[in-house]
Amino acid sequence: MKNIAQIAIIKPLHNLFDYEIPANMTNIKPGCRVCVEFGKKKVFGFVINIIENYNATNYRLKEIVELVDEEPIIDKETLNLFIWVSNYYHAPLGQVIGVGTPSFFRLGKKLNGDSSNVQRIDNNTISNNISLTKEQNDAIKTIEKSINNYKCFLLDGVTGSGKTEVYKNIQNKVYIKGSQTLIIVPEKNLIPELLEYFKVKNMRVAEYHSSLTPKKRFINWDLIQNCMIDIVIGTRSSVFLKIPKLGLIIVDEEHDPSFKNNTEARYNARDIAIFRAKNKNIPVILGSATPSSETILNITKKKYTHIKMRNRINNQSLPDLKVINMSNRKKNIIIAEEVISAIENRIENKEQTLVFLNRRGYSPVITCRDCSWVPQCKECNLNMTFHKNKDLLMCHHCGRIKKFYNNCLSCNSNDIAYIGEGTEKIEEIIKDKFVNSNIIRIDSDNTRKKGQTEKVFNDIRNNKYDIIIGTQMLSKGHNFPNITLVVIMNIDQSLFSPRLKAIEQLAQQLIQVSGRSGRGRKKGEVILQTSFPDNEDLNCLINHGYEKWMEKLLLLRSNLGLPPHRHWGIVQAKARKYLDAENFLDNIKNLISKNKEVKIFGPMPSAMQKKANLYNLNLIIQSKSKAKLNNVIKDCIPCIKDIPYSNKIRWTIDIDPIDYD
Ligand code: ADP
Ligand code: ZN
Ligand code: ZN
Repeated sequence: MKNIAQIAIIKPLHNLFDYEIPANMTNIKPGCRVCVEFGKKKVFGFVINIIENYNATNYRLKEIVELVDEEPIIDKETLNLFIWVSNYYHAPLGQVIGVGTPSFFRLGKKLNGDSSNVQRIDNNTISNNISLTKEQNDAIKTIEKSINNYKCFLLDGVTGSGKTEVYKNIQNKVYIKGSQTLIIVPEKNLIPELLEYFKVKNMRVAEYHSSLTPKKRFINWDLIQNCMIDIVIGTRSSVFLKIPKLGLIIVDEEHDPSFKNNTEARYNARDIAIFRAKNKNIPVILGSATPSSETILNITKKKYTHIKMRNRINNQSLPDLKVINMSNRKKNIIIAEEVISAIENRIENKEQTLVFLNRRGYSPVITCRDCSWVPQCKECNLNMTFHKNKDLLMCHHCGRIKKFYNNCLSCNSNDIAYIGEGTEKIEEIIKDKFVNSNIIRIDSDNTRKKGQTEKVFNDIRNNKYDIIIGTQMLSKGHNFPNITLVVIMNIDQSLFSPRLKAIEQLAQQLIQVSGRSGRGRKKGEVILQTSFPDNEDLNCLINHGYEKWMEKLLLLRSNLGLPPHRHWGIVQAKARKYLDAENFLDNIKNLISKNKEVKIFGPMPSAMQKKANLYNLNLIIQSKSKAKLNNVIKDCIPCIKDIPYSNKIRWTIDIDPIDYD
């Protein structure tokens, strides 16, 4: 009779691994790290279960090599969270622990317990000289009533309505109780502004995101778990942090697709936050000016409490939106004259303009006028985007690059047509028109280095630039008070995209980017250039607003029996041969189709049929009930290894998919 431990290893493997516990290893408990021999290598793993007096007669188990922790480094509550996430998303438990813990921790490192204590000050109330608006006061009063128990609130406040101030007031009440607050944001760029906002008096604030050094991440992790931090502000992976005195979770910009992790364990941090709050019996606040369709559906089902803030601070009205029809203009006009004169007008008034375009690079398509050559990515069968600044062609799907110096790579002709425009081309045109103005294009080129984004954002706030050109990075959450004009260049592609969430995300982006305009004392204006001014979605959004538009979308989705009214799980298969992936998914379809309570669509090629030399195919499984969907998928996973050639396939499961390809 032996004692054995079931170990999760950080690999894409769905099962746990049994190891024998050496007789002298008496301290071992679930949540401890161990070092084990896996294949020929030594790796770190996590103890999930211990089975005593196990009758291992069939085969010899390997012994655990080393116990790293005397006490579990993952407490019971967090371990249960990892297990729940692994079950819900059908993601390997080891990978879930992998995404949910700092890398130092996974390498078996220990802290010396020297994290200094940044001491808690009691009665640390905020005394601010801001007088709250009625809407802010009402919101605070409503949330405050449930400060001691679970309730999910949607703080549905227009851009610039002062949601952060509401968060701060509630956080303060939670702090007074002696509890910690977790604030999750979709992007690390949004953290510095919030850190400043919350760093009042002696409030102990810590950030948690991928730009911190591994050591810093580990130190913050440790401070948080030792209750030496009052407010944690982090990106999606912070939803897994051990926060012993957690009393409030805030998910800001809840509609943002970045809460979904699209590699390894495909979890949604917003949804885990809600689960966590429910389990811990604490309030959770979802904030947004453009709530997601799933959240609005939960409001109509009365699962969440809806708090609306419909006015901007100082009663500044929302920006006026003007649509410019581009369909009847000359082909070579990229920026309409009205836009140029509107920008001129801002420059005269020393106000700023934001030009928004969701496409990086110079031209999405180039072609040779002599031989019709079009550069394509061999691995993805897709056009490569031309980046003029770096003289290269880039595949925006797999990142493959090729040097290009304006001569055809097939016949060497220099008669090249540049079709369509990205931010680089827009920058070129604008620089040409506004020679004496300060213009900045914001993209991954000038924001990659640590601290660069923060500097650029501060420079914008300090009026260093007249015109700011950028992609979606600029559309989110930021407060730039002197921007009074937002120009939205080209959204026409998204109007007709087949992706499930495309139109919803477009509507959110339009409202969010418009919300960057007129946040200060001066009223803002938004100009939208489109070749489809009569598009129904666009008109509904502009004339009736986001709330009405969302109502219509939900009604349509209900009639069609589509998410969020139904639940989706996608099995995606990637293989070098199309037929292998198709056969594999057909087998899964056969396994599942006995169950009449789910509907199956596919297998079908994904929107991105080939990516990085692998064919991608999807099988969509749809159900009215989450539990049924879950059971069907759970039952099929153990059978997958018996499908012929399944070892040739890379497969993943995506529950509640947002943007799948
Ligand atoms: P939202 O997140 O709703 O878009 P913010 O929280 O960023 O809006 O608030 C917009 C601006 O208004 C910020 O500069 C904030 O400091 C300021 N603000 C918030 N509440 C008040 C108030 N009650 N009185 C004056 N200014 C306020
Ligand atoms: Zn590619
Ligand atoms: Zn050519």
